[in-house]
Amino acid sequence: MIDLRSDTVTRPSAAMLEAMHHAATGDDVYRDDPTVNALEVEAARLSGKAAALFFPTGTQANLVALLSHCQRGDEYIVGQQAHNYKYEAGGAAVLGSIQPQPVLAAADGTLPLDVVAAAIKPDDIHFARTRLLSLENTHHGKVLPLEYLQQAWQLTREKQLALHIDGARIFNAVVAQGVTLEEIARYCDTLTICLSKGLGTPVGSLLCGDREYIERARRWRKMVGGGMRQAGILAAAGLYALEHNVARLQEDHDNAAWLAEQLQDLGLEVTEQHTNMVFVRVPVQQITALSDWMSQRDVLFSVSAVTRLVTHLDVDRAALQTLVNHWRDFLHQ
Ligand SMILES: *Cc1c(COP(=O)(O)O)cnc(C)c1O
Repeated sequence: MIDLRSDTVTRPSAAMLEAMHHAATGDDVYRDDPTVNALEVEAARLSGKAAALFFPTGTQANLVALLSHCQRGDEYIVGQQAHNYKYEAGGAAVLGSIQPQPVLAAADGTLPLDVVAAAIKPDDIHFARTRLLSLENTHHGKVLPLEYLQQAWQLTREKQLALHIDGARIFNAVVAQGVTLEEIARYCDTLTICLSKGLGTPVGSLLCGDREYIERARRWRKMVGGGMRQAGILAAAGLYALEHNVARLQEDHDNAAWLAEQLQDLGLEVTEQHTNMVFVRVPVQQITALSDWMSQRDVLFSVSAVTRLVTHLDVDRAALQTLVNHWRDFLHQ
């Protein structure tokens, strides 16, 4: 099976499973799981934050991040297409009574700062209190420029907002920009990281921030059911991933660029290619036929008018060549 639906489909490698098998465990609710503690220390070190907290999912990490920043009746400014606005079932509003203020992202994935500034509500009893700016990096594969992050950081300092980065794919940005995580994370108060996408673990996300904030987050995590016990087996996968699966993300980016070129050579219109994502236009009348053609040949991706293909550690260049061959055959049948 060649699966390009998402980088969430990556499976733990034999070496990762071996690391999980040998993990020392304790009870993380009592804070004595040594492997979870080691992963949190490592995430704090890498991000340059004082503390970190391990979560089963990125959705829960983002929810707890918002709950720990905002009170009932506060609001966060967020991208119209951002995961923690659009794809998390409205959790902040449902469970936190936190109002989102979505704004449209620019073509480069940034939220224009003049638009953000205009969306900040004055201190007036008519309005929700604007508390937080939430950015997504990478956003649909797009890496937010460091210069932009610095300006966003500056704006939030002036306006007394907190700045959160949903960094589900932040290590793709790290590799693409050739910087350390700390060089990006210095421009945010808090940051979430997914271990279960391109980094290849079965589950797991991290929230990084200052000590007091992470203590608050720990209580919210318990409340929403995220306090896990012998979670060291999962944290071991995370530690393995941070050590072995970060630098190799470059391969995924190179593969995505290669795939984009090959699809263009077939005469297809590649609308965008950034980091590990390729977007290609498929004529509406071909959608069903292409989808069937590919799934009959054990190739999976979600075919739509603008089709997204995501490269990751379980698809190598040979698998991508197979996909290209099938697409060529489809066009020439
Ligand atoms: C995948 C993702 C998340 C978290 O997703 P989970 O499936 O809950 O781990 C959060 N933000 C972004 C941008 C994502 O792509």
